[in-house]
Amino acid sequence: PQKVIERNDGQVPLTYKRFQSIIAGMEVPCQPEYAPTPELVMHSRSPTGDDHEDIFGVPTLEELGFDTDGLRPAVWKGGETEALSRLDRHLERKAWVASFEKPKMTPNSLLASPTGLSPYFRFGCLSPRLFYWRLTELYRKVKKRQDPPLSLHGQLLWREFFYVVSTNNPKFDRMQSNPICVQIPWDKNPEALAKWAEGKTGLPWIDAIMTQLRQEGWIHHLARHAVACFLTRGDLWISWEEGMKVFDEMLLDADWSTNAGSWMWLSCSSFFQQFFHTYCPVNFGKRTDPNGDYIRKYLPVLKGFPARYIFEPWSAPESVQRAAHCIIGKDYPLPMVNHQKQVASTWSV
Ligand code: FAD
Ligand code: MG
Repeated sequence: PQKVIERNDGQVPLTYKRFQSIIAGMEVPCQPEYAPTPELVMHSRSPTGDDHEDIFGVPTLEELGFDTDGLRPAVWKGGETEALSRLDRHLERKAWVASFEKPKMTPNSLLASPTGLSPYFRFGCLSPRLFYWRLTELYRKVKKRQDPPLSLHGQLLWREFFYVVSTNNPKFDRMQSNPICVQIPWDKNPEALAKWAEGKTGLPWIDAIMTQLRQEGWIHHLARHAVACFLTRGDLWISWEEGMKVFDEMLLDADWSTNAGSWMWLSCSSFFQQFFHTYCPVNFGKRTDPNGDYIRKYLPVLKGFPARYIFEPWSAPESVQRAAHCIIGKDYPLPMVNHQKQVASTWSV
């Protein structure tokens, strides 16, 4: 980050475009270090005592005081071995490899994918340099060209972008005294915040996403957009800092820079100012998952609703609610806001 900032006359580049143009003129990242070999380990082995495992071993959840009864097996498995096989799968996805484009969004994209990498970067199970170079080598092999375009490493570069913009700014994760953050008189509403965080807003698309986050620790990028917009400028008008804290607690890939930066972005507090574009918590979901299968998976209470009503079950006739064994307002909450009204009242002033 310091080198990028130096090349920008000592200023943090505040747009991704500017950031790209600076790094285009810089050297590419170093190759990753070699993995240690058994021989190397034998030679440099540091002495360990008999109580090594007692002191440094990984404690179990029970030892940490958690009640594990009824806990489902982890969807995301930790460790470097897992990270490396995910990297292989990530690079194998043929369509993507052939075109080097982001794959199209399907309802399945919303689910934890065996090619997802973000928690592994976050915990250092996977080296970004290794990813960078494996991608470059693959490009050279497939395209028979030496120099990949900068965009090939676009996703990794977004991560770097947030690291750079948060450099030298210890207030990056708050609104007050943060020089790059627009000051907005957000509403203080702990009850509404709790409904959002616990997936009890009464809007199935939002609640399914927040339930997946709580149960599994990962949600899709666009799902993050949906719930972040809903909490902030879209519907509830609650500060992005509150949403960031909930993400920080629940995301396996929670990352100080990326999380705070993305929340400022989504709430139009920095980087991006297209206030008029908000995500509708009903139609956005319908477009992404027309059958409502994602909702049925995470909100089984709604699984009896036909696709036509599942994104707005309060609008279903009573007979449909009864047939679905789910009365709205009793078995599942009524919607806490009317999005159309909310948007109209916010933006008509
Ligand atoms: P892929 O799409 O397969 O990308 C590969 C890798 O590139 C990712 O593992 C990730 O390390 C990096 N990457 C991809 N997109 C982004 C991006 N937009 N910004 C930064 N890095 C990116 N990502 C985090 O890693 N930690 C966070 O705390 C985090 N908080 C977010 C909060 C909000 C409100 C939003 C909108 C996005 C946030 N993201 C965060 C970015 C993004 O959603 C995740 O990185 C992505 O969903 C991870 O899934 P993946 O591994 O399948 O990524
Ligand atoms: Mg992915």
